[in-house]
Amino acid sequence: MSKYDNMEKTVLSAIEDIYKSVPAERVLIDEPMSRHTSFRIGGPAAAFVTVNNEEELASVMRAVSGRVAEHMVIGNGSNLLVSDDGYPGIMIKLGGDFESIETDADDPCRVTAGAAILMSRTSAFLTEHGLSGFEFASGIPGSIGGAVFMNAGAYGGEIKDVVETVRVMNADGSGLRTLSNADMQFAYRHSAAEAGGMLILSAKMKLTPDDPEKIAERVAELQFKRNSKQPVNYPSAGSTFKRPVGGFAAALIEQSGLKGFSVGGAQVSEKHSGFVINTGGASCEDVLAVMRHVREKVLEDSGILLEPEVRLINCSL
Ligand SMILES: Cc1cc2nc3c(=O)[nH]c(=O)nc-3n(C[C@H](O)[C@H](O)[C@H](O)COP(=O)(O)OP(=O)(O)OC[C@H]3O[C@@H](n4cnc5c(N)ncnc54)[C@H](O)[C@@H]3O)c2cc1C
Repeated sequence: MSKYDNMEKTVLSAIEDIYKSVPAERVLIDEPMSRHTSFRIGGPAAAFVTVNNEEELASVMRAVSGRVAEHMVIGNGSNLLVSDDGYPGIMIKLGGDFESIETDADDPCRVTAGAAILMSRTSAFLTEHGLSGFEFASGIPGSIGGAVFMNAGAYGGEIKDVVETVRVMNADGSGLRTLSNADMQFAYRHSAAEAGGMLILSAKMKLTPDDPEKIAERVAELQFKRNSKQPVNYPSAGSTFKRPVGGFAAALIEQSGLKGFSVGGAQVSEKHSGFVINTGGASCEDVLAVMRHVREKVLEDSGILLEPEVRLINCSL
């Protein structure tokens, strides 16, 4: 039996096209998503393609759009919960040129970061170059693309505070353009990219000069805070639920007595009730069962319906 035998016809014909623009070693068939998510959960994607530049991305998007219903561009997989059944379509990850970062030739306070570069590496680069303003984001375990898409935030800052412009492409591979911060319509864990299905290629950030040692100290302080409050030693996808209006998800969950509540290998963290963690061998169904129970109990106790912050891929509550 060939590895392509169980694949839907539309996915197969898209892959044939993808092979024309992306080398075969970067097209993985039946690739377990547990290898690409911080939760370490998720069955196989029919295909997992890594694209290294804008031309490859545009070709892949042209091959899949209007043809394969299930396709998505992912970042570092740190906000994803993927079904145990996997993903029947094509996952696209950015690499190569998308991992670049550089200061502007005519303005050392402006830095362009590719969508695939990690927040931690971006923070290290900015610290080294004596550029301040990104410290709040240094410990967020995603990519620049994911952070812009989600308007990620921490410790009173949000990515929208530092981003000046964003280079994007439409989901069908057309319309390469640069959008302003205002065009991105950033809101709490939301951007226009989400609403418009746009792909983020890079972001230009405006920072402030400061002493690298002082920046490093602030980064270390926030990292210490994060490590002491969050269950960083367990796989998770960060905050499971969004902050509801007029409250904090973690406080509501704790008030409902759910700290430590578990199903299989999934548990409401003892350290931070806002996180569901994978204590070892958790399935997606285990995490969903914990999430469902938490939502029901919190709704019953407080009248507040928690909305997931983690993105549910090919599964639902
Ligand atoms: C331990 C831990 C702590 C965390 N702490 C925080 C925190 O303090 N603050 C916070 O905001 N989040 C936090 N998170 C959640 C997560 O890190 C952020 O949401 C992050 O921005 C996701 O980035 P990513 O690259 O991993 O994106 P992914 O999880 O891969 O994707 C998230 C979404 O973005 C889309 N996307 C990703 N890249 C692109 C792109 N280039 N173009 C278009 N769409 C794209 C995907 O399609 C998906 O819908 C935490 C997670 C963990 C595991």
